[in-house]
Amino acid sequence: MMNRPPRRGLMTATALCYCVVVLMLVSSSCSGSTTATPDTGSIKVHPTPSGSPASADHRTTMSPPVDPPPIPISDSTTSLPAGKMPAGDGRSNAPLVGLVVVLDPGHNGRNGSHSREINRLVNAGGFQKACNTTGTADSGYAESRFNFETAQRVRTVLSALGATVVMTRENDEGWGPCIDQRGLTTETAGADVLVSIHADGAGVGAHGFHVIYPGSIPGYTAMTAPRASVLAIALRDAMVARGFEPATYVGSKGLIARSDLGTLNRSGVPAVMIECGNMHNRADLAKLRSPDGQDAIASAIASALVSTRSTLTGLPPASAAVR
Ligand code: ZN
Repeated sequence: MMNRPPRRGLMTATALCYCVVVLMLVSSSCSGSTTATPDTGSIKVHPTPSGSPASADHRTTMSPPVDPPPIPISDSTTSLPAGKMPAGDGRSNAPLVGLVVVLDPGHNGRNGSHSREINRLVNAGGFQKACNTTGTADSGYAESRFNFETAQRVRTVLSALGATVVMTRENDEGWGPCIDQRGLTTETAGADVLVSIHADGAGVGAHGFHVIYPGSIPGYTAMTAPRASVLAIALRDAMVARGFEPATYVGSKGLIARSDLGTLNRSGVPAVMIECGNMHNRADLAKLRSPDGQDAIASAIASALVSTRSTLTGLPPASAAVR
């Protein structure tokens, strides 16, 4: 499928090549390629994102583009103090008025019983990849549910700050949408930014969050990746300020660039994905399940968007009182 005409001139070319992919046999992290089995919902998780030496989850004729190295941590964008939220009540001076945000709760609650549909290959940014995956789960708590619950909290906070929020799915009872459509929602929504919400499934001893920003792919993310990395840093800082620890098992200081994620690659505007924690780790899971933990994540995402708004949109920052 061809890209639609570029919005704001950010995307300049369509895909140059389409690569043949043999169906992925096993998965990497929840955001990448967890595969479903028919009607069982059983899950296979291999916490080996692209770029990791252990990554071997793709059987492709051409690998996705090589990821760039992580950005230096010293490039940090100032974020709001921990526990402080920008004031906003929908008035014209609310800090996110005019900003259109696509929120993407990863996966969906019924993906596991639609393996044929979610294993269909789609254009994930110049290469083919499964439409979607089941995500991870632990102790009866599915990642798709966490993603959706948290996204709803994020929507509430962003809306109160004046943003227009578009969700890629409105419930946790269906399957899909495919990763390409999640990214392309930014075009139909006229969005400024996309934030995809996930939780990971790594070894029980691994813990912490990480923020993923796209590598630079000509015709896809080349024009948006630099601004996405600024948002990723701001979000990382906002999470740390709220007591979340950067992942001990992936990335560098809570950040990693990946070029294999269709949701990010197909977005026409800056896009980041946050893996909020490791569901297989007891302490992480407790935090992810708790309303306070989900509210803290929502606060961090809001803070990061407020602090990077002018970078994302090219517009002057709105006045943002802090309470
Ligand atoms: Zn996921």
